[in-house]
Amino acid sequence: MQVKHLKKGDLVKVIAGKEKGKTGKVLTVLKDNNRVVIEKLNMIKRHQKANAMGKGGIVEKEGPIHASNVSILCGKCNKETRIGIKIFEDGKRVRICKKCSEILDV
Ligand SMILES: [Zn+2]
Repeated sequence: MQVKHLKKGDLVKVIAGKEKGKTGKVLTVLKDNNRVVIEKLNMIKRHQKANAMGKGGIVEKEGPIHASNVSILCGKCNKETRIGIKIFEDGKRVRICKKCSEILDV
């Protein structure tokens, strides 16, 4: 998957790495380093400094995953798919599922 084809809110499946086989929603697209942050996946622990209340400790946060390790999931055919581009007469472009032609942009 190329990062330029991914958008916030896309449902994706991880196809390589330690989260292989898991699915989740794209929270952030990091175009500059070709990565995406996926909800509840690739959780990394971070130490947080104690605040004025004296509370600190370890917080978990999603870490970015390389876009080449994810595949988009089509909500209609429920499969990993490739993205096609459909161009309407008025010049509007939308992303479609190459397997079932469902429009992926909402
Ligand atoms: Zn489909």
